[in-house]
Amino acid sequence: MDYLEGLNPPQREAVVNMEGPMMIIAGAGSGKTRVLTYKIAHLIANGIEPFNILSLTFTNKASREMKERIVDVVGDEAKNLWMGTFHSVFAKILRFEADKLGYQSNFTIYDSEDAKSVIKGVVKDYKLDDKLYKPNVVLSRISSAKNNLISWRSYEANNDMRLEDEAQGRPKIFEIYKEYAIRCFRANAMDFDDLLFNTNVLFHQHLDVLNKYQHKFKFVMIDEFQDTNISQYYITRKLAAKNRNICVVGDDAQSIYAFRGANIQNILNFEKDYPELKVIKLEQNYRSTQTIVEAANSVIKHNKNQLEKSTFTQNGIGDRIEVIRSGSDLDEAKAVAQSIQTAIMRDRINPQDIAILYRTNSQSRALEEALVKLSIKAQIFGGLSFYQRKEIKDMIAYLKFVTNPKDEEAFKRVINYPKRGIGPTTVNNLFVKAAENKLGIWDVVSNIRRFFGGRIATQVENFANMIKVFQMQTEQKNAFEVASFIAKGSGILRELYEDKSPEGKNRYDNLQELLNGIQGFADDPSKEDKKLGTYLEEISLITSSEKEDMSDAITLMTIHMSKGLEFDYCYIVGMEENLFPSQMMLETREDLEEERRLFYVAITRAKIKVFLTYALQRYRFGKQISCEPSRFIDEIAPQYISMKRNSISDDLGPGNTPGFSNYRSLRQAPSNFIKKAVKPKDDRPFVPSKAEDLSVGHIVRHMKFGDGKVVKISEEGLDKRADISFEEVGKKTLILTFAKLMII
Ligand code: ATP
Ligand code: MG
Repeated sequence: MDYLEGLNPPQREAVVNMEGPMMIIAGAGSGKTRVLTYKIAHLIANGIEPFNILSLTFTNKASREMKERIVDVVGDEAKNLWMGTFHSVFAKILRFEADKLGYQSNFTIYDSEDAKSVIKGVVKDYKLDDKLYKPNVVLSRISSAKNNLISWRSYEANNDMRLEDEAQGRPKIFEIYKEYAIRCFRANAMDFDDLLFNTNVLFHQHLDVLNKYQHKFKFVMIDEFQDTNISQYYITRKLAAKNRNICVVGDDAQSIYAFRGANIQNILNFEKDYPELKVIKLEQNYRSTQTIVEAANSVIKHNKNQLEKSTFTQNGIGDRIEVIRSGSDLDEAKAVAQSIQTAIMRDRINPQDIAILYRTNSQSRALEEALVKLSIKAQIFGGLSFYQRKEIKDMIAYLKFVTNPKDEEAFKRVINYPKRGIGPTTVNNLFVKAAENKLGIWDVVSNIRRFFGGRIATQVENFANMIKVFQMQTEQKNAFEVASFIAKGSGILRELYEDKSPEGKNRYDNLQELLNGIQGFADDPSKEDKKLGTYLEEISLITSSEKEDMSDAITLMTIHMSKGLEFDYCYIVGMEENLFPSQMMLETREDLEEERRLFYVAITRAKIKVFLTYALQRYRFGKQISCEPSRFIDEIAPQYISMKRNSISDDLGPGNTPGFSNYRSLRQAPSNFIKKAVKPKDDRPFVPSKAEDLSVGHIVRHMKFGDGKVVKISEEGLDKRADISFEEVGKKTLILTFAKLMII
């Protein structure tokens, strides 16, 4: 059996021990996924029918790749394996069993847009405040309930959920949940979370059905076990209850979905649920150089909450991790693009083996543009390229329509976004009228009273007037001034700002990032014409180049998406405080530890070389702000970092070529807030005060920074900020939407 040759002794032990519960919790790159793959192949080679094996992975892509490997080893019969994500596998099962739950087997699966639209309808019909009960917020509460197996019937009595809703001023969520569930059911539809939730219901209520699947799935395998949630855990526990052939692999140090309900407790429960559990340790890393493995170990050591394990590698020492400092985010992108060019030309690295990893989606814009300039093809993995994202397309549609009011596609995007009561029927009537009179759509819209009267006319007229005001701006002002004016005037900025869900925040960041790009264009001294039209022409080149063949493209993606993957060279960009670790994740030690695990995931994706880059200044929130290097750079033991210097001086300003430098010399003080955490001096309960109540001179308390005095309050974009002079940690600027402060 050749395939067993490619395994070390503990890996082989894991593969050949076919029966009974098994858990492998081991570091990145130690061959966990490889063991699962070969174990399945081994089962089939030993006569187990592929359709008796269920294998659950994190992405469908991972499943496909595993399946291909298995087919290579045991042949085509492996195609009958049950493999996929939890959602895809259990959707399939629910279709077979739909009638048991009162659904029809052709039930629709609602994506989050559909779900939000239903919620919107409920909020409206219940006459609730739609500013408070934003669809995103409500959906995320319902989702978290479902993932913790809390039905709408038990939600009202569930103290944890109810109290949190009340604390956030949304006591009616349980009613919306109920009505939402009823409407989905009536529409014969399930949302993503229902796929898991209803599977649990099915197995709970129909023992005959459970019995059937227990019998069918004689072997259950789970990859990336650290990121399963309670709902998923219960499903697999039920399925494996009879045969107890369940093999899970994962790495607690790579648990990065706690914010979505993944529960690391599952790893600990597993040992209790299966006392006869066989635990296998894999300690040898096959993926990365010694430097990378050691550097990653030195980072994760800073986490308190982790299981004991050690990793080593017999691979070469390899290059040190290179830290690249740049004056600005644009220079950072240029430096990365140049370095990638060198990697491809000089180091002969295949573009497909190069990845740029970032913390938030919005960071991809500057990078995409810098890569295009050097003709390096790039592909966004697991997400849309920056200019394909809805919020960006919407905004660009405004810019296009203002510049060219004949653009009907742009018109369709903007006419009722943000919502202004001009529904599809009206839009259709406008087009009909334009066609009847052989006119363009703008001719009708801008002279609406000639064609329509009443409410429709008023609304359309308001829209047309708004566009005319925008058009006047384009004559006098540069692209950035016009675009900011439009972002505000159209209501897009506010619409996105008010959505406080993580996705909403992301969209808002993306829009700000687009504006930053336009500002870069307008500020560029080499450009003669700074008008909006010229800007649009420039970006149309970027958007169209995306249609090309991508087989020789490098990959851009968020770190979250990179889990389980590997690349020769990895560029981890935006290594700055408040970006990575993310500002939103600095409230508690648990959050910071999750960020650190994310950093661990990022480093361990690389086989040969890691680059960490950061900028001293970055456009964020519509402004250029100063940045401090991420504390995570400091956490890597110094012997693994390259302290190379080049000829560029220390005082890099925007526009200069970036270089390497001793980043440590830049630091005024170590930035590890946790170490310096200040305990409140008395035991008063911490109750955050409202942001509006805060004013200059107030003494406030922050959970981590301790007590301080408010010295300044300012508004930047839509964010209200406070400069606070803390007794122990000095001056900090905090965004009041996120910072929890108590006036004392
Ligand atoms: P992650 O935690 O990042 O998901 P993992 O533990 O699943 O990592 P794999 O992806 O299975 O690790 O393996 C990492 C790399 O090491 C792969 O390229 C794999 O083929 C290789 N590898 C694993 N074990 C061996 C081995 N015994 N001999 C040779 N190569 C190996
Ligand atoms: Mg893996």
